[in-house]
Amino acid sequence: MNMISPAQIHEIDSQRQVNGWQRPVDRQTGFEVTEEFRRFNQKYDMFNRAVWDDEVRSERSDRFFASYFTDLARFRKVEGFQHRDYALRNAAWYIADFTADLLETSDDRKEGFLDSYTMFREGATRKIEASAEENTAALKRAGTFLGADAIGICEYDERWVYTHNYSRQKLTDKAMDLPEDLTYAVVIVNEMDHATIETVPSALSGAATGQGYSRDIIAVLSITQYIRNLGYRAVASLNDTALSIPLAIQAGLGQYGRHGLLITPEFGPRVRIAKIFTDLPLIADEPIDFGVTETCNICQRCSSACPVKAIPFDAPNFDRHDGVSHLKGVRKWTINAAKCFKFWANQGTDCSICIRVCPYNRDVTKALNRLLRWMLGNRWRRLALWLDQKLRHGERKTAGWWWRRASSG
Ligand code: SF4
Ligand code: SF4
Repeated sequence: MNMISPAQIHEIDSQRQVNGWQRPVDRQTGFEVTEEFRRFNQKYDMFNRAVWDDEVRSERSDRFFASYFTDLARFRKVEGFQHRDYALRNAAWYIADFTADLLETSDDRKEGFLDSYTMFREGATRKIEASAEENTAALKRAGTFLGADAIGICEYDERWVYTHNYSRQKLTDKAMDLPEDLTYAVVIVNEMDHATIETVPSALSGAATGQGYSRDIIAVLSITQYIRNLGYRAVASLNDTALSIPLAIQAGLGQYGRHGLLITPEFGPRVRIAKIFTDLPLIADEPIDFGVTETCNICQRCSSACPVKAIPFDAPNFDRHDGVSHLKGVRKWTINAAKCFKFWANQGTDCSICIRVCPYNRDVTKALNRLLRWMLGNRWRRLALWLDQKLRHGERKTAGWWWRRASSG
């Protein structure tokens, strides 16, 4: 794939508006982006709406957020939602929460969730002399060493960058502070623990989410400092600044699933994503196709399993549910984020049922699961789905099973 500069991207955008022209990367990813497309304002992210929008905010959503920071969690008698489960979940979130809180009061920056990270040493004053090919090979080697389970590169694509940041302190928009002349996004994913996700829904399973983010943070901060040490600019980002999923797809890390999540070949949807924007000369990866769209067209397991039916059963379309918390002008499967978040708030922790049941979420250290994964990518797809269900893969295990398993090694 040829390198496209930000100036060329603007030029392509104007041509697209005049001629209905599609970007090469859209043809490769299958994204259908229309004239209706508008970039997303972070203010409308469901977690931010739960702070300012009375249609989303409730006593339960306030208690949901508080449960991550205090001992206010209502420890229930139900297995998986007891004191020990919440204790582990909040410990797994600690690195993510600690780094997010560092500059919140002093600088109105909630880094990693609303703002990009700024906690870096000065880099080198002289740029390393190396080709884009050399930089790319070394970055991937360094990136996995520094903690990324998988790493991909795409060109900077302004469409997925938020129009504004959001301040939960002042309840107002903030200017987007990402420099516009960075040329690449380096996208990383880290695996969430498989056994813990098998206990969803539970407070215990929320530990896999927190652990995934915490591992992402260690990797993304270290890789960013590595690029700065080479003399180039780099901005580290977790859920802030830009939509991670389209960037990950463009960077060749996976495909888009019916449940609205990235599906990777290695870990399925059981990943957390982070990214680094940089001007280090690199070679972008190609988007990949391992048959996910064809599988989702006939599967619908996540749609059936979702307790609030937030995942569509029908074909990808432009439906935006409540109109503000979803991307406008992109044909895709779109979950009803308001229904999903309400369920999280009501049960007092996040939910990953759609990850647990997905046939791509299997432990591929086992040969049978590797075979089924291979079958999902070809004409044996229907048989693979039938076998996956027949073998009761993805059924919920108890938190007691997890804790006993942990203590028996
Ligand atoms: S559960 Fe099935 S339909 Fe849903 S994302 Fe996974 S493969 Fe696609
Ligand atoms: S996280 Fe849970 S509530 Fe939300 S879409 Fe997935 S299954 Fe449904």
